[in-house]
Amino acid sequence: MRKFTIALVSIFLIASISGPAHSAQMTAKKFSSCADVLKNYPNGVAKDKKARNKAVKGGFAKPKVSKTVYKKNRDRLDKNNDGIICRQKKAEPLTKAEPFSFAKNIDASLPADWVAEFNQVMSNLGQLMPISEKINEVPRVQSPMNIYAWNSAVSNPFPQIPGAQGASISGNGLNTWMVLEIPENEFRFNDLHRYKVIAHEYFHVYQIAMSRDAEGTQWLWEGGAKVVEELYSQQYYGRSQFDSQLMPVNAAAVQTPKVFENYGSGKDMNYNGSAFLVLALAKELQQRGMSEERAFTAILRDFQAENAQEPDWKKAFVNTFNMSVEEFYQSLSQYPTAEPTEDWISHRVVDATPVLPSKTLTLNSIFS
Ligand SMILES: [Zn+2]
Repeated sequence: MRKFTIALVSIFLIASISGPAHSAQMTAKKFSSCADVLKNYPNGVAKDKKARNKAVKGGFAKPKVSKTVYKKNRDRLDKNNDGIICRQKKAEPLTKAEPFSFAKNIDASLPADWVAEFNQVMSNLGQLMPISEKINEVPRVQSPMNIYAWNSAVSNPFPQIPGAQGASISGNGLNTWMVLEIPENEFRFNDLHRYKVIAHEYFHVYQIAMSRDAEGTQWLWEGGAKVVEELYSQQYYGRSQFDSQLMPVNAAAVQTPKVFENYGSGKDMNYNGSAFLVLALAKELQQRGMSEERAFTAILRDFQAENAQEPDWKKAFVNTFNMSVEEFYQSLSQYPTAEPTEDWISHRVVDATPVLPSKTLTLNSIFS
């Protein structure tokens, strides 16, 4: 109701003001509003050169000098009496950030076929899950992000990263880089891990960007990267550790899942326990009516985006999944634990078969 009255009044005002302006066209034009002025003089109008120069010095866009136009309109439109009507802030130069990129430092110790596949994997991942431009807001990340890769048969050939080893996203507080030391054995035994590890570490960069490097929780962070790594393997190489039920998953994953919230539990071999928790969460979301794709999108992408807004990961969890962390942990009692079936395993285990994702689940459907 109130809106309607205001609209009527303003139509009235415009009509009555613009009326005389038309009849006085031979002399300087009278404008009804600044919007009207700006249509003809996009930077406003100055009384004289002195006023114009003062405005430019003050950081305003250079107005047109016209004494007559100024005089005709100053009473209504030069509110602060500075000799300018409708002065405009100078447009900020558009600082378009360079798109985020990686700089690849590939040591000659790596075989050519690995390098070729590395480039292919990076290209696939870039298309499947582009790194969000939010990464520009993470202070300790610079673009391009260096990737240092070498074969463990040689010692670390990069003096820029002394002491680096294994595979990780590492940093010094000012900058962040990816370390890919590929174990020599993985070439000898044709181990797919030498390629899957690229997807794992890449996904950490995706998470850093999406969450603006929020302090989350270990099992969602590492379990997410592990699940992406195995989904990549399933999709591109036709096999993955899902085929062997992520064996072994420590029974602690369902008995004391809290220990997987932080690094160093000693119970998360190859992040199998963390991956189990991610998969069990996806199952729980499906039991509550989500599609499989949507459940994985919520876990792998939406939770990280929510964590960027809500730094308390338990609150971000509730906001994203509509259940509390404790509720989820309680749901894990449905999975029975058992004695290990192989001698080398020294702890009780939980069978991941009931939580494994479909063979047909693709990263495209999760991240598109
Ligand atoms: Zn990791």
